[in-house]
Parts: sequence; structure tokens; C-alpha cells
Amino acid sequence: MTSRRPLIAGNWKMNGLRAEARDLAGALAASINGVADAPFDMVICPPFTALADAHAAVSGSNVALGAQDCHAAEKGAHTGDISTQMLADSGCRYVIVGHSERRADHGESDATVKAKAEAVLAANMIAIVCVGETEAQRDAGQTMDVVGGQVAGSLPDGATAADTVIAYEPVWAIGTGRVATPDQAQEVHADIRARLTDQLGGDTAAAMRILYGGSMKPDNAAELLALADVDGGLIGGASLKAEDFWEIAEACL
Ligand code: PEP
Repeated sequence: MTSRRPLIAGNWKMNGLRAEARDLAGALAASINGVADAPFDMVICPPFTALADAHAAVSGSNVALGAQDCHAAEKGAHTGDISTQMLADSGCRYVIVGHSERRADHGESDATVKAKAEAVLAANMIAIVCVGETEAQRDAGQTMDVVGGQVAGSLPDGATAADTVIAYEPVWAIGTGRVATPDQAQEVHADIRARLTDQLGGDTAAAMRILYGGSMKPDNAAELLALADVDGGLIGGASLKAEDFWEIAEACL
């Protein structure tokens, strides 16, 4: 574990009706309340429709609320979209941008992701910027180029360690049960940090959190979270069960 404070982030994706959100968020709030001075940050990112319920369930606890996406514009004619001001107004402190499912399903480019991340910062929230290679790109030996290009193109201008978190999520490991080996994860995380040094300077690079995401589960979390350049996890499937998500977080205790 590093001196960077780990972040354990749950991406619920398109799961959770309001009552389920209240139960799950409430259980996590109770767990974290049972630990004095937990040495990690925790955020849950429910669907938009459950934000208000989840917010009520975690209020007064150290579980923060996040959203899974946003629009880059402040407001206006963007039917069906949600602005960062609206998310902040709903109690969010974090917003995930550039998840591979959005890059793939909605054709989001690095420029789009960067614009969204900048909107997150403008609303005084923290952007969790996702990057990661496909299996074909890894097989072709392009992992570092692809991930490096995404880091260069997707981070907000003027990003700091306080307002920006990177999530390295190999696409082939998301929701597949195939997890990156510790060597694979550490290699990419270290490469990202080296690129951040060039892009943002050594101090920011040393302080910025880089999360691993991709089939993180209670039985593999401790090994991944112990890696030198892994500063937490972005967790999908296992964040939908309070016991599993909490067990992952406990690896940071
Ligand atoms: C994710 O969606 O960000 C993710 C990492 O999912 P899973 O943990 O289910 O692989």
C-alpha cells in the first residue's frame, strides 16, 4: 500500500431500484460507521434514478456519492442528459467519466471524456477518468500506447491529485471474471504514473490515485490493492453486494 489514500469505488451500472439502493447504501454506511477513522475513501455510484435515495441512506456517514456519467454542458437542449451541476445538487462528490461501456456503447472519444471531466471539476466534484485497452489491443502489444493515449487525451486540463482520479480498467477484465495479474496491473499503473509525471509534473503524478478495475472481488482484492501503484479499486459486479464490497474495502484496513 502506498501513502496515497485508497479509494474504493462502486459502479452499480444499470442496476438497483430505489429500495435496493437504500438497502445497499444503508448497509455500507453502517459498516463504515463501525470503523473508527477508516484509512480509505469509499464512493458508491448508483444510477441517476437512485441518487436521492442513496444520498439519504449515506448521509452522516463517510460513504460518498458519485454518478456514472454526465454531460459536458452546464445546461440546455440536451434531452435525457444530466449536468454536473445537477449531480452536485443531488449530493454527488464524484463522477465517473469515460467508462469503457460508454466509450463503446455511446462512441465517446477522448475529447468527449475530457470535456466531461472538465465539467466535473467546474462543479467542484472529483472526476474518475477511466482508461483501458481491449483484448485485441493487448494481444497486439498496444496496451501502453492505447492507455497512454487515453490518459493524454482524456484528463482535464489542470488536473490535480485532489480533483482527478484515474481508473485503469482493461476492457477484457470488466464483468468477465478474468482479472489482470498483479504483474499486468502494476506494469500499466506504473506506466500511467510515469506518463503523468511528463504530463502534470512529478508531485501531481506521485499524489494522483490510480484505481484498478476489472473483476475485482473479495478473493483477489488484497493482492491487487497491495501493489505499489494501485491506489484503490473501481468495482462493478462485486459492488452490488454490501458484504462483498465491504470485504474488498477491508483489504485496506
Ligand atoms: C466496472 O464496470 O467498472 C467494473 C470494473 O466491473 P466488474 O468489477 O464487474 O468487472
